[in-house]
Amino acid sequence: MVEENLSPADITHKLKTDFIGHKVIAYPSLTSTNDIAKREAKKGAREGTVILAEEQTAGRGRLKRAWLSPRGSIALSIILHPTPAQLPSLSMLASLAVARCIEKVGGLETQIKWPNDVLINGKKVCGILIESDVRGSAVDYAVIGIGLNVNLKPADFPEIAATATSLSHELGRELSRLQIIRCLLEEMENLYLELPEGDSVFREWRDRLVTLGKEVEVSSGKTIYKGIAESVASDGSLLLRQPDGSLIKIVAGDVTLRR
Ligand code: ATP
Repeated sequence: MVEENLSPADITHKLKTDFIGHKVIAYPSLTSTNDIAKREAKKGAREGTVILAEEQTAGRGRLKRAWLSPRGSIALSIILHPTPAQLPSLSMLASLAVARCIEKVGGLETQIKWPNDVLINGKKVCGILIESDVRGSAVDYAVIGIGLNVNLKPADFPEIAATATSLSHELGRELSRLQIIRCLLEEMENLYLELPEGDSVFREWRDRLVTLGKEVEVSSGKTIYKGIAESVASDGSLLLRQPDGSLIKIVAGDVTLRR
C-alpha cells in the first residue's frame, strides 16, 4: 500500500534543520520539481525551500533524459544560495546525503557512480539533477533535484526494468517516504554546512565511488573517450587515463559514463 500524499506539515513536524525544509511546497503532480523550484528561486524563495511532488510527469535527468517518477517515489528539489566555490560540491553532497539515508533508514548498502548516480547492487536507485543560475561571479541560485525510487516495482517500467532498482524491491517491503525525506533534508543541511570547513564531503564522496579503477567510456557530445577512471579532482571532475597514457580531466554535467 503506497503511503498517502505527504503534506508540508508532515515533513516540517520534528524536522531537525535550521533552514532546509522549513518551507515545503507540495504538489500532487508536477511536470518537474526542478522547474517549479527554479521559478520559486527567481521569485526570491528563501534558501532551503523545498518543492515536493507525489509524481512527476516530465521528470528530467541530465542531457534532458527522461526520469520516471511515478507515485511511490520521492521527487523533490531544494533551493540553495551557494557561493561559486561551493557550486561544484553540490552534486557530491546530494549523492552522499542520499547514500547515507538509504543506509540509515533502509539498512541497505549503496554505491555512487560518478558523478552522482546512487546504486544498490549495481542498479540505479536515485538520479540527481543540479541546475543553477550564475551571473558574472555570483550564483543567483542553485536547485538540487532528487529522484529516488522508494516504493515502486522496476518490472512495471520496461524502459528501466533492467537497470533500475527501488528500496522496496531490494528490501521486500515498503518504506516510509516521510522518514527518508526528513533524513535527506537533515543530511543535506549537515553536509552543506560542512562545506566551508574543508574537504570532508569530497573525501567521503570519493571514497564511495565505484567508478574509480574501472575501465569506462565517457561520451561527451559526439566524442567517446575510453580509459581507466583513475581519480577525481576536488571539483568533482573525473581524471581518465587514456590508452596512450595521457590523462584527461572530464567535467561532470555534459557527459555520460558507460560500463
Ligand atoms: P546513466 O544513468 O544512463 O548512466 P546519467 O547519469 O546521465 O546516465 P541521468 O541523467 O541521471 O542519467 O538519468 C536519466 C537516465 O536514468 C535515463 O536515461 C534512464 O535510463 C534512467 N532512468 C529514468 N528513470 C529512472 C528511474 N526512476 N530509476 C532509475 N533509472 C531511471
